[in-house]
Amino acid sequence: MQYCTRCVYPANHPLGLVFDANGVCSGCRIHEEKDQMDWAARWARLEALVGGYRDRTGRHFDCVVPVSGARDSYFIVHTVKRRLGLNPLLVSFNKQFNTRLGIRNLAYLRTIFDCDHMSLSPSPELLRRIVRFTLNDIGSIYWHILAGSTAFPVQVAVRLRIPLIIWGAHQGVDQVGMFSHHDEVEMSRKYRKDHDVLGIEAEDLAELSGIPLDDLEPFRYPPNDEIARVGIRGIYLNNYVRWDAKAQHEAMIDSSYALSTPMKTSTAFTTPACTIT
Ligand SMILES: [Zn+2]
Repeated sequence: MQYCTRCVYPANHPLGLVFDANGVCSGCRIHEEKDQMDWAARWARLEALVGGYRDRTGRHFDCVVPVSGARDSYFIVHTVKRRLGLNPLLVSFNKQFNTRLGIRNLAYLRTIFDCDHMSLSPSPELLRRIVRFTLNDIGSIYWHILAGSTAFPVQVAVRLRIPLIIWGAHQGVDQVGMFSHHDEVEMSRKYRKDHDVLGIEAEDLAELSGIPLDDLEPFRYPPNDEIARVGIRGIYLNNYVRWDAKAQHEAMIDSSYALSTPMKTSTAFTTPACTIT
């Protein structure tokens, strides 16, 4: 197994890596761009971009912001609401593998930022059927999370006619250097299928598992014509903000958003952490 000589990512990273002659991975090389780019100019581009989506009447949402309540959600909502001054609709897909602390963090997020929040919780029985199949046949208990969290925000954008979705970091850029920051890559059905949902769309899962496609509606990416009708585009903040997860987390902890008395975690409610990659 080849490992990056700089960051020690292995060659079998699920998103794919390539190595140069020095054994340095594509993720590290694209990371170097962060120290060469004019981030002030990028921020100005972002402000100009979102300006076209700002609802002047104040009656409608300016954008959809997918959140989980964990990790970078606080930084994303802080950036969208406090720095860009947008009125976002927060959207989350309930993965059902939640800890008590995770549930608290999501509730706290919508409270402190004073945002409307829409969440979808598919039935536990449906998720049991899906996970039983995906574990046995494709070796993953995460398909429903990956598919639901990347489809539901787009479904909401279509239904409520909100043409802008603002995601955090594009993982293909930030983790493995699949694209350059200069590409300004945006959300696409193809990337989602190839990398987010393990190559298996809801339609494929219905055929493979025998679960009726109608039951898998929460996991379906909307048809192209519906996306085009609303003019939906999904952008990634890490193309416009120098992405540094550690520094962002520390900034959020140091901000007034941090709870003065951290909640005690009861071991009775603690389950293994769930990672969306
Ligand atoms: Zn590397």
